[in-house]
Amino acid sequence: MACPKKKTSHRKQHQRRAKNWDITLASIGTCSNCSQPKVSHLACTSCGYYNGREYLLALPRKQRKATA
Ligand SMILES: [Zn+2]
Repeated sequence: MACPKKKTSHRKQHQRRAKNWDITLASIGTCSNCSQPKVSHLACTSCGYYNGREYLLALPRKQRKATA
């Protein structure tokens, strides 16, 4: 097994770990059902659809039946 020649300094350790700290913005697309902006890979918050199927019950049942 490979053996490190020198102990990793605190600075180098910190530099390596700091690479994973930056925050990335979630990619935003449009819903195929209602064409509202939505976060990719998540169900639409306005209609509750994901990949052509309803997953989230965004509205209460009474309200959904009234609008449909
Ligand atoms: Zn939608």
